[in-house]
Amino acid sequence: MATPIKTDRLSFLEQELKNLEEQGFVWRPRTLQSEQRARAIFDGKEVVNLSSNNYLGLTNHPKLREAAKRAIDQFGAGAGAVRPIAGTMTLHRELEEKLARFKGVEAALVFQSGFAANLGTIQALVGKGDAIYSEELNHGSIIDGCRLSGAEIIKWPHRNVDALRQLCKESRQKYRRALLVTDSVFSMDGDIAPLRELADIAEEFDLIFMVDDAHASGVLGRNGRGSVDHFGLHGRVDVQMGTLSKALGTMGGYIAGSKTLIEFLIQKARPWLLSTAHPPAVVAAAIAAVEILESPEGEQLVKKLWENANYFKKELQKLGFNTGASETPITPVIVGSSHNARKLAQRLFEEGVFAQEIVFPMVARDKARVRTIVTAMHSKEDLDFALNAFKKVGKELGLI
Ligand SMILES: *Cc1c(COP(=O)(O)O)cnc(C)c1O
Repeated sequence: MATPIKTDRLSFLEQELKNLEEQGFVWRPRTLQSEQRARAIFDGKEVVNLSSNNYLGLTNHPKLREAAKRAIDQFGAGAGAVRPIAGTMTLHRELEEKLARFKGVEAALVFQSGFAANLGTIQALVGKGDAIYSEELNHGSIIDGCRLSGAEIIKWPHRNVDALRQLCKESRQKYRRALLVTDSVFSMDGDIAPLRELADIAEEFDLIFMVDDAHASGVLGRNGRGSVDHFGLHGRVDVQMGTLSKALGTMGGYIAGSKTLIEFLIQKARPWLLSTAHPPAVVAAAIAAVEILESPEGEQLVKKLWENANYFKKELQKLGFNTGASETPITPVIVGSSHNARKLAQRLFEEGVFAQEIVFPMVARDKARVRTIVTAMHSKEDLDFALNAFKKVGKELGLI
């Protein structure tokens, strides 16, 4: 039986929670009771799942399952140490070599998560007396990494290259080193950063250029190699961050770049140094995921993902929904008020479709939305089922 804590030192949390509740900011996550599939069971109901990042269906791929099981038999359930001390196994090295080759760079370093990769890398690269030019819609892990670094943070408006150039003109010379950091695919809007122009600016103003490919890994570029491959920017991006946790189906993040960068991060990136290494099963499954991506099957999966994404987006637009600036498999359905977004998500769920509402403060107050993410696993029937639900509920709520 749970023993109640008798002090009241945390009683202020009740008020804090009440405040959050009143503002509508409380998460009550749904529970997944099946595999993460195109049709999955959440809270006891089978729904068409438009809320996962399992872009290519790799979380359930037989090759990943087998690789994970074999690794457990051969290497056990855990790594038992942090990477720098005794936790670097042959599997970790193999994964990093594969990733470097896949990305076409000299070296790669795997972190426990994409979050840890951003945090540890930004914090290690810049510090007091330096500047970070950070795109205003960057992911929270970049924001936290920037804060931890102690560098001056200069935000630039979303995808606004001219504004960034102006800011660089005004301020670059005041700082020793400077980092330019951006998401490549923005997770709330599904739009893509203008990386070519940003690479030019990085060269013009001598900025270390870092790109977060969390939603681009396995999605953009040849066989899902990411945004640098998509834009043909090989050799012009200093620091590429990628994830193993979204399209690649397991968990983890990595940094890809020069040998010197990786050697430096091994000495300085705190999450990598201080938090235990991935268990063998995760690493082996990630290796299998990269192998699949490199193969013709990977090419097919990425192709199917984009066919599904393009079809779904086009049909939503035909129905009269506002999908914003989306140009990737992340398609927001922007409805304005938080109330509308909540109502839409709720009614969709009742109709058998799970698409998460995204409201203030994650997006602007008047840009509340339901976010959809289609995967390569969705069949035409799944997508049409979802579109029908959107049509029915959209009319019912007066949104279309
Ligand atoms: C999901 C995400 C991360 C964090 O990756 P994890 O591997 O889930 O920790 C970082 N950046 C962006 C843009 C993301 O969408």
